[in-house]
Amino acid sequence: MNNNDEEDREIETESDFEDIENSSTSFTELLEEYGLEHDCPTFIGLSDYVRFVAGSTIAAARAVINGQVDIAIHWDGGRLLRRKFDKVLYIDLDLHHSDGVESAFLYTDKVMTISFHNYARGFYPGSGALTDIGQGKGLYHTVNVPLRRGLRGARFLQITEHVLGHAYNTFQPDAIVVQCGCDGLTGDPAREWNLDIQSFGQCVRGIASWNKPTIFLGGGGYNHANVARCNAYMTSLLIDGGISIQEDIPEHQYFEEYGPDFSLFVDAGNRPDLNDDEYLTDVMDVILGYFKNIEKRNTRH
Ligand SMILES: [Zn+2]
Repeated sequence: MNNNDEEDREIETESDFEDIENSSTSFTELLEEYGLEHDCPTFIGLSDYVRFVAGSTIAAARAVINGQVDIAIHWDGGRLLRRKFDKVLYIDLDLHHSDGVESAFLYTDKVMTISFHNYARGFYPGSGALTDIGQGKGLYHTVNVPLRRGLRGARFLQITEHVLGHAYNTFQPDAIVVQCGCDGLTGDPAREWNLDIQSFGQCVRGIASWNKPTIFLGGGGYNHANVARCNAYMTSLLIDGGISIQEDIPEHQYFEEYGPDFSLFVDAGNRPDLNDDEYLTDVMDVILGYFKNIEKRNTRH
């Protein structure tokens, strides 16, 4: 047994975890070094959890590929489809830029990635500028829609519907993957955007109305009651072409977390929306220019 075994040992129980945490400041320093604190903490069963999340996302993808389902929903996913479908459109509605997915498909024109995200100095992960547009064959197939603080539902819908409509017509995808991270909802501890659940749901319903094989994944979202509200509402819109659900939160174990209104929906706050018409129009014009370049390139072939 060498000294490294101490760090490599499996952490299986709460007390193992505490033992390690108490026994060495170096462990705490290690967590800090790799950013495994604050909103990305380690926890008991993490490795199993990661395998379950990845495995169930793969299962969702298989169900769509095999034609077993038209729509697969995996609200705990978000974190494989190209084998059957020629062109896949990935849409990311999470508050944060989809840097990982973007870098995975940067060089291909078979996957178009579109990320709508908060973009501000010092805001994680700092990538996702309007001018980051893919490379090589993938040029113009990375689409970044950097947005400002305070984004309201109406403006979110305006920009997502506009960009996604044009993207759909230009790219003509065979299948869609949507990351529905809802950390942009009002009341999220990230406190950047100010989205209401109805607008978020309407955006997701618009994507579903394309009637393409689609996987809807969860993502960020740190106000647990609001995430549950949003996931429940989105599910109601997606299953069986949309079903109605009651607005009153039913009594259950965590009922108190849904106060003071105990309603499915939460009102947006009054913070100013820094995404004014002028800014959104400028962003749209640039992105439509990229789509025109794809069309030009397609007609040349
Ligand atoms: Zn996020």
